[in-house]
Amino acid sequence: MVTPKRLAELVEGEDVMDAEAIEDTDRTCPECGGDVISVGYMPTVTEFVTGYKCQDCDWSETDRE
Ligand SMILES: [Zn+2]
Repeated sequence: MVTPKRLAELVEGEDVMDAEAIEDTDRTCPECGGDVISVGYMPTVTEFVTGYKCQDCDWSETDRE
């Protein structure tokens, strides 16, 4: 099982400062229809982002505007 910080780093594409627990979502992946999990994380001290990652493929996105 991937750790929250590792998952956040996969979504962000670089190191993150901190990450919260991984959570299941009701979303399905737009690429493959797989289950999507979410993780809240802090890429910097002043920023909090929720990241989404498919469990079955490489698709991911964030709620960052
Ligand atoms: Zn997928």
